[in-house]
Amino acid sequence: MDDTCLFCKIVAKEIPAKTLYEDDDILAFWDINPQAPVHFLVIPKKHIVGPSGITAEDEAIIGKLLRVGAELAKENDVEHFRLIANNGEQAGQIVFHLHFHVMGGRPMGKLG
Ligand code: AMP
Ligand code: ZN
Repeated sequence: MDDTCLFCKIVAKEIPAKTLYEDDDILAFWDINPQAPVHFLVIPKKHIVGPSGITAEDEAIIGKLLRVGAELAKENDVEHFRLIANNGEQAGQIVFHLHFHVMGGRPMGKLG
C-alpha cells in the first residue's frame, strides 16, 4: 500500500466507495464524477502507478481487470462501452494508481 495514494485508501476501506465487485486481486467501484450514464473503475488492489508501471508478473491481474470490467458492463446492461486507462498527466491521469475506466450508456464519440 502507498499511504499517499487515494485508491490504495479505497482498497483499504479508509475512504468509502460504491463497490460493484471485489475479490483478492481487484476492486471495481463507481466513478465519483461520472462522464457517462454508466462509469465505473476497475483497479488492481496492488499499487501500480499506471500502464507504464505494469510488469510481467502483473499480466494475469491485468487480464482479470479487463474480463471483469467487460462482465460488469454487461451486468449493468451496457453492451457498447469504452474501456480505457490514462497514462501520465498529459493523457489525463490524475490518480496514479492503475485504473481502467468503463464508460457506456451513451454514444461515446471519438477519442480526442
Ligand atoms: P484519471 O483521470 O484517469 O486518473 O481518472 C481518475 C478518476 O477517478 C476520475 O474519473 C475521478 O472522477 C475518479 N475519482 C477520484 N476520486 C474518486 C473517489 N473517491 N471515488 C471514486 N472515483 C474517484
Ligand atoms: Zn495505490
